[in-house]
Amino acid sequence: MSTSPSIATSQAAMKRTKRGVPEGLWIRCPGCKASIYRKEAEKLLNVCPQCEYHFYVSALDRINQVLDDGTFEEWDGHLMPADPLEFADQKPYHERLTAEQRRTGLSDAAVTGGGMIRARRVAFAVTDSAFIMGSMGSVVGERLARLVERATDEKLPLIIISGSGGGARMHEGILSLMQMAKVSAALARYDRAGGLFISVLTNPTMGGVAASFASLGDLIFAEPKALIGFAGPRTIKATIRLELPKGFQTSEFLLQHGFIDRIVPRARLKSEIARAIDYCGK
Ligand SMILES: [Zn+2]
Repeated sequence: MSTSPSIATSQAAMKRTKRGVPEGLWIRCPGCKASIYRKEAEKLLNVCPQCEYHFYVSALDRINQVLDDGTFEEWDGHLMPADPLEFADQKPYHERLTAEQRRTGLSDAAVTGGGMIRARRVAFAVTDSAFIMGSMGSVVGERLARLVERATDEKLPLIIISGSGGGARMHEGILSLMQMAKVSAALARYDRAGGLFISVLTNPTMGGVAASFASLGDLIFAEPKALIGFAGPRTIKATIRLELPKGFQTSEFLLQHGFIDRIVPRARLKSEIARAIDYCGK
């Protein structure tokens, strides 16, 4: 890891490459296939007005949606990813990192910091699926572990919103896998100190992220119809050679089977988190 400018300086870059719902005045909703007016979906926090399909939301948009205006303060933004294995797939990992940083305006897939939710101070993190599938490498793991430790020291409720389809980041090999244990151990200490951890799962939350911190919440919320699981459905099907049940690995299926506690539509997420914090007396 090395040092370089943080998220504040990259916000201008984010504006140029605005993501969320696809470009164009009208867009086709992947949920109901209807043509919907893009501005209308944006007004609804990137949710389809017809079928409530939840479109992708960037880390910065998520911060704006969930935290009180202007209260977010980034922590550990100076940690920068390195390429210790000199890994290369279609292209060298260090080149991929530079390209992803330029495209997303983020230095890595997780943004962590402090902020307020309806005037309640919280430790907050979000992972962004646009950055190498939101996968967890050393920087994501280290930022999250430090966030949890600071939440423990300052006795803050902890909110982590996961949008991580990539799980552990294969480009960093075993160093990525170690992040699962590191963050989980920090969460265990946080738990013993009496902290409240609310984990929010969004589409998609898979692999080593689902198999570590994302599943360890005292409360686990999920956005409607999010894909949540460990291995993808195709991999499982090819391995066990059985038809998978209908709706397998969706929020709704997981709620029914007790894996998550509540499905929370995006528009209600902020209020529901605030309510849970109050309910738990934190
Ligand atoms: Zn729709």
